[in-house]
Amino acid sequence: MDLIVRGGTVVTVGGRAVVDVGVRDGVVVQLGGEMSTGTGGREIDATGRVVTPGGVDAHVHLTDPIRGDPDWHWSDDFESGTQAALAGGITTVGNMSFPPRDGTIADAIEQDDADARALAVTDYFLHPVLMRATEENLACIAPLHEAGHTSIKFFLSFNHFDRHVREFLTAMRITKDHGGIALIHCEDAAIMDCCCSLLREAGKTHPQFFPDARPVQSEVVATQRAVGFAETTGCPSYVVHLASARALEACHDGRRRGVPIYVETRPIYLHLTRRRFEEEDGAKYAGAPPLREQSDVDALWAGLAFGNVDTLATDHAPWMLAEKLDPAFDATNLRQGVADLETCLPMLYSAGVLTGRITVERFVAVTATNPAKLFGLYPRKGTIAVGADADLVVWDADRARTIDGASMYSRADYSPYDGFEVRGWPKWTISRGDVVHEDGCVTGVKGRARLVRRGPHRAI
Ligand SMILES: [Zn+2]
Repeated sequence: MDLIVRGGTVVTVGGRAVVDVGVRDGVVVQLGGEMSTGTGGREIDATGRVVTPGGVDAHVHLTDPIRGDPDWHWSDDFESGTQAALAGGITTVGNMSFPPRDGTIADAIEQDDADARALAVTDYFLHPVLMRATEENLACIAPLHEAGHTSIKFFLSFNHFDRHVREFLTAMRITKDHGGIALIHCEDAAIMDCCCSLLREAGKTHPQFFPDARPVQSEVVATQRAVGFAETTGCPSYVVHLASARALEACHDGRRRGVPIYVETRPIYLHLTRRRFEEEDGAKYAGAPPLREQSDVDALWAGLAFGNVDTLATDHAPWMLAEKLDPAFDATNLRQGVADLETCLPMLYSAGVLTGRITVERFVAVTATNPAKLFGLYPRKGTIAVGADADLVVWDADRARTIDGASMYSRADYSPYDGFEVRGWPKWTISRGDVVHEDGCVTGVKGRARLVRRGPHRAI
């Protein structure tokens, strides 16, 4: 063996067992039984520790949506972003790839793949983002699926969508026919436009009113439409960053009828409520949809525990604090997104697994196995099994750390959780058999990452 992880409690969605993991050529080749390392091999003593599959974060932004526009420039690229991922136990990231100006979704993939090949420290896949459902872009969907990019992403939150619903439904039909899945941003553009007008007329444009600019009914209406689109086209559909109990209920309602609709949530909706916008620098918490109520937080935790929420993804979209607080932006257009790649899994482990709120098997399901299945990466990614890539996390349940975004791997100089005490961090993160992170120090180097060419979507 090149690497043996000995004595850990290995967890998959099916259960847990104390078993040695033998790795050769980056792949798990043996679970349990006699094994030894050859010359240059390494053994890790995981006795008394939990070993989970490396996290699969299906939703990150490590390339700018509009290249060259300073108003749309994330703090991280594939290098700092994937370093943060590894420090937080995530070994595969799914990047949202936006087309260049006047380019197609095929150009988006080519451009972002070049970036990732040069900079990424861990494995990645790429979601083509369909900003314009033009003939040219629709013609790209099938060849992209055949090349292993088996998803499309689009937004109901832009007016463009409502003018071209027919073409977007065609995109969903093509995606379905090629075994793919649609990722849908569910907020209703017209409702939000109306809310922004009302706020402006009432002089309520202070950032504290951000949640009123994008209220829960805009999320519910758009989610119901997504369920209807999935029902009509048969295209498996994945609601990104679902934030509210009512939107979750809309998805559950569809699922009861057998509609292939899946739910992602993200950490800010598990750990923060809209009360944060009452803080002086509340703009730093802005994401879309906005933070909601405690009852929504409770519903999402219950969904993670009992299966109505399928995945937890970061939607890592980092800004510098001064950019978030830029007074040029108000409640109607705050900069959206936060850094979360290093904090996502440890905070779920801390607030979920160690408290007993979710089982460690559910932790594995929502952070690794489910996203791997939905996006065509399973069983190469998302589980610990003979033949799977050796992407592993050995947890240190005793390590406590106070979050301080300024000193973490993301180049964002703050975290929305600054000051939170989090216990339970990855001790070792292993990517394809390489120990690439140990005790908070990332040792993996850029250029080692590989594009994961995906197979078809799998139902879960
Ligand atoms: Zn996003």
